Amino acid sequence: MTQNETNIAIIGAGVSGLVAAQTLEKAGYTTTIFEKSNRIGGRVHTEYIDDYPLDVGFQVLLTAYPAAQRILDYDALELRTFLPGAQIISSGKTHTIGDPLRHSGFWSSALDSNIASFSDKIKTLQLARALKSKSISDIFAAQSQSTLDYLKEKGFSQKYINQFFKPFFGGIFLENELHTSSRMFEFIYKMFATGDAAIPKNGMQMIPNQIASTLKSKIQLNSDVVNVKNSQVFFESSESKNFDIIIDTIGITLDQKDKIKWKGTVNHYYEVDIDRKVNQLITLTPDIDGINSIHFVTDLIPHPTGKQILSISTNANTDTQRTDNEIVKRYVNSLFDIRFINHLASYAVPQALPDIQSPNYSATIDNLKINESTYRTGDYLSAGSLNAAMENGEKVAKLIISDLSIV
Ligand SMILES: Cc1cc2nc3c(=O)[nH]c(=O)nc-3n(C[C@H](O)[C@H](O)[C@H](O)COP(=O)(O)OP(=O)(O)OC[C@H]3O[C@@H](n4cnc5c(N)ncnc54)[C@H](O)[C@@H]3O)c2cc1C
Repeated sequence: MTQNETNIAIIGAGVSGLVAAQTLEKAGYTTTIFEKSNRIGGRVHTEYIDDYPLDVGFQVLLTAYPAAQRILDYDALELRTFLPGAQIISSGKTHTIGDPLRHSGFWSSALDSNIASFSDKIKTLQLARALKSKSISDIFAAQSQSTLDYLKEKGFSQKYINQFFKPFFGGIFLENELHTSSRMFEFIYKMFATGDAAIPKNGMQMIPNQIASTLKSKIQLNSDVVNVKNSQVFFESSESKNFDIIIDTIGITLDQKDKIKWKGTVNHYYEVDIDRKVNQLITLTPDIDGINSIHFVTDLIPHPTGKQILSISTNANTDTQRTDNEIVKRYVNSLFDIRFINHLASYAVPQALPDIQSPNYSATIDNLKINESTYRTGDYLSAGSLNAAMENGEKVAKLIISDLSIV
């Protein structure tokens, strides 16, 4: 069978499905992508209010992600970056912490001992240095334990863990107890230590849009796949179609016992009036359980009319009240002298990140190949992130190309 004659279906137009299609196309294959919703990008989603981008759930591209560096054109994305640090508001006081070696503005905060003790600061620098030189394969070969146990073992003080690690990494892992694997912690820490946290100027949606813009493959939107069996794709409409190869990016082929467990978030956006300096920092509020992070989106992406837009990201897995728009506003009012002008949007994303016990860097062949005609990919097969979605999308495509070349 030649490349032209091979009929390949991809279920899902998220980042992993799009990267799989792109990699197959580079080898001369074309695919048909079936997408349930009316848009591409899956969990990477931006809505535009008066042409201004609001991401559906706060997320960032870590520019050090190896797969993203291979696959994306960063210049074309016009990335806007956060400073490598965080602002912490605790007991009515604001502290800034950050890596003084990466940003000179953090030298003064390096001397502020309210959040981190001298020993915590030394350990933070040592950890960054150790992880910069630790290879990704060594990170994922290490024994997995909870991030909380890992940090305690490293000797960080309970105060620093509560005031910095829990809110900062809780916001990334979308769980505040830090039960997420230490492998994921080391990987993300390494990415933060060696690159930037960035958002494209026109929102995260530009990432899948950029990949899709390279494709010739047909993307069939509003195509809800209900089953995949014996080389056949079954649709909600009761139709079915035959393919030589089927790639499942949504886990529809998983056994019941392996079904994905999810972590969620709720993200609120407000137009606000506040007297402050632009600082491109994520603000953490360790005293308020359930709020993951706060940031002024307009610090990174100025609004054409000068509006200030605040994003508040909450942890959907804690007390549901904390995710409520009015209650969140009240909490934020207790932190800043701020006037809420307009509630722009609230987005609930119950299935944001897969909850994985001991993640690998990328999916194994056993995870990827189900049988001669059916393959699987997606971020949930390894260290759930944009990087995992891209790595696994590329890896499944290369496996298929190799399998087809042997036939
Ligand atoms: C709020 C939030 C915050 C995040 N933060 C970060 C972050 O800061 N950094 C980071 O690296 N990652 C982050 N992520 C994770 C990142 O977005 C995902 O890892 C990545 O987008 C997953 O891509 P995917 O293709 O594997 O899955 P998905 O994006 O879920 O793609 C699956 C696609 O399949 C479609 N589909 C589902 N069911 C069907 C069906 N029955 N038939 C046909 N199509 C179907 C879906 O509509 C979707 O388009 C975050 C995610 C969210 C939601």
